[in-house]
This record gives sequence, structure tokens and C-alpha cells, in this order.
Amino acid sequence: MESPTIPICKRCNDRGYFVYEDEDACKFLKECECQLQAKIEWQMKKSGLFDEFERCDLKKFKTTEVWQAKMKDIAERFSKEPVNRFLFMSGQVGCGKTMLSTGVFKELLKKGYTGKYVLWRQTLMKLKMLVNDETYFDELDKLRTVDVLYIDDFLKGGKEPTEADVKVAYDIINSRYLKHGGITILSTEYMLEAITDIDEAIGSRIAEKSKGAMIQISSDKNRNMRFKE
Ligand SMILES: [Zn+2]
Repeated sequence: MESPTIPICKRCNDRGYFVYEDEDACKFLKECECQLQAKIEWQMKKSGLFDEFERCDLKKFKTTEVWQAKMKDIAERFSKEPVNRFLFMSGQVGCGKTMLSTGVFKELLKKGYTGKYVLWRQTLMKLKMLVNDETYFDELDKLRTVDVLYIDDFLKGGKEPTEADVKVAYDIINSRYLKHGGITILSTEYMLEAITDIDEAIGSRIAEKSKGAMIQISSDKNRNMRFKE
């Protein structure tokens, strides 16, 4: 005899919905909370960063230096309330920007936002191949419409960005800038001033939208890191 399967969700018996009765005894179907949880888990699994989420937790970020505490504070505040919608994290490899960016991304996915993680170099290559194609804007639209877009190693491509690279960067940043409610996380080795030197329109949009959520870690000759607002 087959043993009956025990439902994981006792509220809806894994149907995904249950009958809800309001004060006027009106009955209607309501989506069960377990569905939101399932969506969140699915989002996290397909984000491409699932294996990183365990390690990259905001709570686990160590703050032995003052600038690390400042970084963490900005990241935590942004994950709770992304006021101006852009989080800008600039610094050298090893300063902790990737850990915090990933941690913020995870916290936002846990709230139920849809999210997309992209590595700049790969996305740039893909879009540059399509730039004269009519599908270019369809591809761009995928980056525009997602609730949270996390771009890792923004503008990094081995050499200085070319004119074609800058065009793609502008199209992405501008579409995120215009998208009402969309959140963007940028992790980069470029300081904002350097980005503005490359392209003023990109730099000014990032500056405007990352007010209060800008982290810039510069390293001096002795490889000490410093926080810059
Ligand atoms: Zn349920």
C-alpha cells in the first residue's frame, strides 16, 4: 500500500491557494504565502549566485576598520530601503564590494523582487554583437524590466572602454535611470570621477541615483584602503 504524501504546506495542502472567508462571509480563493516563498527560492536558484549567497551575507561582513563599518552600514540601509534606487560600489579587488553587493542582492530577492545578475564583460559582448540588429532593444529590455539588476565589474573589459562599449553602457544605465522603481547595483573598480571622465552622461546619472548609497574605496601606495564619499 502506498503511503499518503504529507503536504509541505499545511495551510493549502500544497495547492498554492486556499478558500478565504472575509467578515461578510464572502468566500474567495487566496494565493497561499508558500507560493511567494517558492517564487523567492526559484528566483534565488536561477540568479546565478546561489552558491555565493551562503558566504555573502551582510551579517557576516567583518568590520575591523572604520571604512568597512561605513561600507556595511550603507549596504544594510540600501537593502532595507533603496531610496534613490542605485547602489554604487567602487573599489579594488579584495575591498569587500562583491561580498556586500551580493549580500544586498540576496536581501532584495528575499523581499520578493525579481532579480538579474550579469557580469559586465559577458553582457557587453552579447549586446555589442547585436548592436545593429533589431533584437538589440529586446535584449536591452530584459535588463531594463527586471526589478533588481546587479552588474558586476561594470566597465571592466581588459582595456579602456571603447566608444562602442560606452554606447552599450549608456543604454543600460539610461534605461535603468528611467525605469520607475527599478533598483540597480553596480560593482566596479572605477571611481565615479573616472566614469564621468569616460562619459559624463553615464557618470551624472549614477551620481544622481546613488545619492546616499555610494561606496568608494581607494587604496593608497601602502595598499591601505580609504573610504570616500
Ligand atoms: Zn501553501
